[in-house]
Amino acid sequence: MIIGIDDTDSNEGMCTTYLGALLIEELQAYGTVEDHPLLVRLNPTIPYKTRGNAAVALKLKTDFPERAIAHVLSRIKELAHMECEKTNPGAVFILEKDYEKLKPVLRNFLEKAVRSVIEIEEAKNLIFECGISSKGFKNGRGLIGALAACGAMLNLEEWDYTFEHLAYRQKERWGTPREIEKESFFEADRKTYPETWDTVDLTNRLVVCVPHSADPVLFGIRGENQEIVTEAASLIRGEPVGRFAVYRTNQGTDMHLLYAANLAEIQDMHSYRLEGTVLAFPKTIHGGHVIFPIRDKEGNEIDCAAFEPTKNFRLLIRKLRPGDNVALSGSVNSGTLNIEKIEIKTLSPLYKEENPKCPNCGKHMKSSGQAQGFRCKKCKTQAASKILHQIKRDLAAGLYEVPPCARRHLAKPLVREHRSDVDIHPAR
Ligand code: ATP
Repeated sequence: MIIGIDDTDSNEGMCTTYLGALLIEELQAYGTVEDHPLLVRLNPTIPYKTRGNAAVALKLKTDFPERAIAHVLSRIKELAHMECEKTNPGAVFILEKDYEKLKPVLRNFLEKAVRSVIEIEEAKNLIFECGISSKGFKNGRGLIGALAACGAMLNLEEWDYTFEHLAYRQKERWGTPREIEKESFFEADRKTYPETWDTVDLTNRLVVCVPHSADPVLFGIRGENQEIVTEAASLIRGEPVGRFAVYRTNQGTDMHLLYAANLAEIQDMHSYRLEGTVLAFPKTIHGGHVIFPIRDKEGNEIDCAAFEPTKNFRLLIRKLRPGDNVALSGSVNSGTLNIEKIEIKTLSPLYKEENPKCPNCGKHMKSSGQAQGFRCKKCKTQAASKILHQIKRDLAAGLYEVPPCARRHLAKPLVREHRSDVDIHPAR
């Protein structure tokens, strides 16, 4: 049986991945948890999310499905933050006999949940039409994520994946400041990067894999395989870990991106990979955000932004000039693309006016006075006007990304990019 769960936490605490970790232990009483549990990130622009729009799926081999279902539901009732208006848990149970039938339907649903917007009614209709066992609490919005997570488990071979080792705090420490030895995260990063990423942000001297909210997570190490995230986690020093789980996940895969051939098709609450030409010099607006417009071949335009949290990435963006050709990826909200990555494809030439050079001696001529042209004092040669001289741009073509401290969960870090046709500049 596949069990999908979503929407159990609030800003005051809990985390659906924590409930997943508890259930991995407790469901052993009813059978065997098979494969890796899944942590599936859904559309990052959804306003109903608490933090990272995550849902969880587990696979349980059991002869007692009814008892396992009852246990899952009782734990959701007990642990979900039902009093929070935004918490609307959902649980979905797919029986083994239905795997093949539901595989394509839920694959489409997963893709839509990651890349687009789904109404609660659509999830409820699908559950009804396919006869899926489920339980929605309150308005049942969590059924969307729970169905999508089941779709991911049914279609494992279809999508790129990474791993995250999530360590959870002991319950009595929840809500208190986390005791961690910061230096141990830098050590773990030195020993396991680039197979792990986003543990620390070297440029901004930050530990980025430790949350600051009241949830039960102590830290999460992200990486390419189970062995490496476990090795990195074993190097961390801090308060005792209550429990942990290693999730297989679509984090760091760019699964959220749609390819936009034309800027006219772009919609809010969707994420894209798109191309265009920089139309005007980037402007820094109130709050430190850096914005510039791009235009596609058909003349459609969109504003692109490196917001203040992207820190040093804004220095790069400020170097763009009109005429530069770029490919960008990011999410669109209020008609503006929030840049996650940029490929600078071609740079427009930059010119500076200067006095003409003497064709004899090669030295710059001097002005002969206003509107009287230029002359070389030594060789007596003359020229009518200034010339344009191409100067080197303080920017190189290639692929760039926001720093780890500003990374979106789904964004594929450049350390995972293996293109040979372009210079890659991973942010550290
Ligand atoms: P949690 O740890 O509880 O999962 P979270 O930050 O991941 O916290 P949720 O509390 O799960 O966020 O809230 C996200 C809500 O949005 C869930 O109810 C989920 O079902 C729903 N949702 C996810 N993706 C979509 C989508 N594409 N369209 C509409 N609703 C969605």
